[in-house]
Amino acid sequence: MAEAILPLTGRPPRFAGGLRELAPGTFAWLQPNGAWGEANAGLVAGAGESLLIDTLWDQRLADQMLAAMAPVLASAPLRRALNTHQDGDHWWGNGSLPAEVEILTAAASRSGMEGESSPAELARLARLTAAGRALPGSIGGLCRLVHGMLAPFDFRGVALRAPDNAFDQQELEIDVGGRACTLLMLGPAHTAGDTIVHVADVGVVFAADLLFVGAIPVMWHGPSSGWVRALERMLALDAEIYVPGHGDVGDRAAVESMQRFWSWLRAGVATEAKGGTDALSISESLIRSEGFEEWRSWECPERLLITVTALMRELDGKPPLRVTPAVRARLFRQVAMLSKRIGGDR
Ligand SMILES: [Zn+2]
Repeated sequence: MAEAILPLTGRPPRFAGGLRELAPGTFAWLQPNGAWGEANAGLVAGAGESLLIDTLWDQRLADQMLAAMAPVLASAPLRRALNTHQDGDHWWGNGSLPAEVEILTAAASRSGMEGESSPAELARLARLTAAGRALPGSIGGLCRLVHGMLAPFDFRGVALRAPDNAFDQQELEIDVGGRACTLLMLGPAHTAGDTIVHVADVGVVFAADLLFVGAIPVMWHGPSSGWVRALERMLALDAEIYVPGHGDVGDRAAVESMQRFWSWLRAGVATEAKGGTDALSISESLIRSEGFEEWRSWECPERLLITVTALMRELDGKPPLRVTPAVRARLFRQVAMLSKRIGGDR
């Protein structure tokens, strides 16, 4: 029997993890509960070949996923893999793929990957934050939060493999053993090069991090208008099943919930920011407001801090934040403070 895929955080699972067949030859790989780094992937199998969509945050997880996919891959080996965007939790498992598998990504994602922190940096951060967990005050809170995020992953075992080819097109149709898969580059939104996959013959969309289900979305880059347009585009596709980058498989209603989330959040930040308060206070006030009810049970409400910060920059007409290690540290310190204020110092 295959090993159960449980939340990496040790929290109780909110949905079943592992390989799930959504339609003939079309699978989601699900990592409950969709919290930090708990990313999903996808597999489309055609006649004699398959396409893998994303490779998770480390090779141990990627190996485990590939082992679970082995019965499918036996008759339809991987020919190509897509990295949907630049965040490490979607491509640091690339090193586990056989060398002959061609890895694709959007050109904007490939440039973004070059600016990401390295696995060695995250391994070091995991060690440093382990040591700092007992410290008092906001530094201790920061260490506990960041350590909790990084500890489940094996960054030392990651041999980075960059994608082999980058594409410039907004829309690219590829043939996967007789099945048409359309890659749609809908960024910049969550990141600069967000790409989704529409598998038209079964009405399935792999939405990557443009869709979160049961977990609060993070927007590092923006603009939020790009994210709103991306959701409209997703709903305009002939599809009934939407696989998020984080969280359980959804339907059209899940995409509509994300649309409501953005309407609510963009309006809320615009109103609150007039009062001249900071991102931390605005995030806390929004989480405590009635308008948040629909998403109150979702994982990682503290992530709202990052998204609110990005939205405030948009309102001020500033360009997206350049996320240097120092900026990331400052943001995560505030995320930890928000987590504590809303009662979830974990
Ligand atoms: Zn992600």
